Amino acid sequence: MTELEKVLNLTQEEKGWQESPVSLPLLITPYYLSLIDPNDPDDPLRRQVVPTVSENLEVGLETPDPLAEVDHSHGERLIHRYENRVAFLATDLCAQYCRHCFRRRFTGNMHGPATQKEVSEAASYLSEHEEIKEMLLTGGDILTLSDSELFSMIEAFRKARPSLVIRLCTRMPVVLPSRITDELIAGLKKFNTAAFYLMVQFNHIRELTPQAVSAVAKFVDAGIPAMNQSVLLRGVNDSADALEELCNALVAARIKPYYLFQGDLVTGTSSFRVPLEQGMAIERELRRRLSGLAMPVYALDLPQGGGKVPLCGSYIEGMQDNMWKFRTPDGQERLYPSS
Ligand code: SF4
Repeated sequence: MTELEKVLNLTQEEKGWQESPVSLPLLITPYYLSLIDPNDPDDPLRRQVVPTVSENLEVGLETPDPLAEVDHSHGERLIHRYENRVAFLATDLCAQYCRHCFRRRFTGNMHGPATQKEVSEAASYLSEHEEIKEMLLTGGDILTLSDSELFSMIEAFRKARPSLVIRLCTRMPVVLPSRITDELIAGLKKFNTAAFYLMVQFNHIRELTPQAVSAVAKFVDAGIPAMNQSVLLRGVNDSADALEELCNALVAARIKPYYLFQGDLVTGTSSFRVPLEQGMAIERELRRRLSGLAMPVYALDLPQGGGKVPLCGSYIEGMQDNMWKFRTPDGQERLYPSS
């Protein structure tokens, strides 16, 4: 905090944050810091990375692991919650720490990168479970690994299962776009037996800088589609205007708005959560304003590992004279035959 005080005018709320053994580290990249207005306490980028006193609170049903990942883990790093896909926690380290991070039970705990033993155990698990079609390579941020560390993990997993689709989950294009080098992309292209997808997290249009857009373009130009998973965050993007602007800009940058996540019940994140009713009103308005391509799925990962469910109101109102009755996004009535 003392270092941060030299570059930002900190509020009492921010100064009141206390580091504890369970808190996320405080780390912001100089690049991301340069995007923040030092004099605006409500800057939507600042809210994502500067902790406040509210992070020390545990509210209501909050827990450190609301998705029950630990219960679905094989060892410390392999999570098998859905039948056809697994997540592998390649490292717990990030280039900067988002205060809304849902995996704070693990993130930034200084476990470091997965060991060779952990990687080969995960590869064996993949070999034994043909039902797994996709792997989320995640953490932490996988691009805190060196290229050679990352490539050797991918090599092990692709060797075990050449047809495995791998999702590369990283916020690096947002927080440190210079990490996306030509060497990284060229190295990934060598593992061409199956598809990669880039899963990135832009939450506000000001994060879509020319540098960030170019970083993502390197993946897309190499045949790796880019998908965005925003989190609905109070004071950051909790309005239809903010999200409409973001989603349209993402599409223009060849990034598909994929999910808009409702905040999980993670300890210390209550100040970010948007009431469900407000979230669903935003979703309805976005559906009216955005194209299908630009529209993300608003979803909630249910507590206690219940899985993801979409949060959208029904447009079906029932049956009338053997016809289905619908309500259009603009509020008009339409009928469609039942057979
Ligand atoms: S980059 Fe991802 S894992 Fe790291 S703190 Fe942010 S949300 Fe959490």
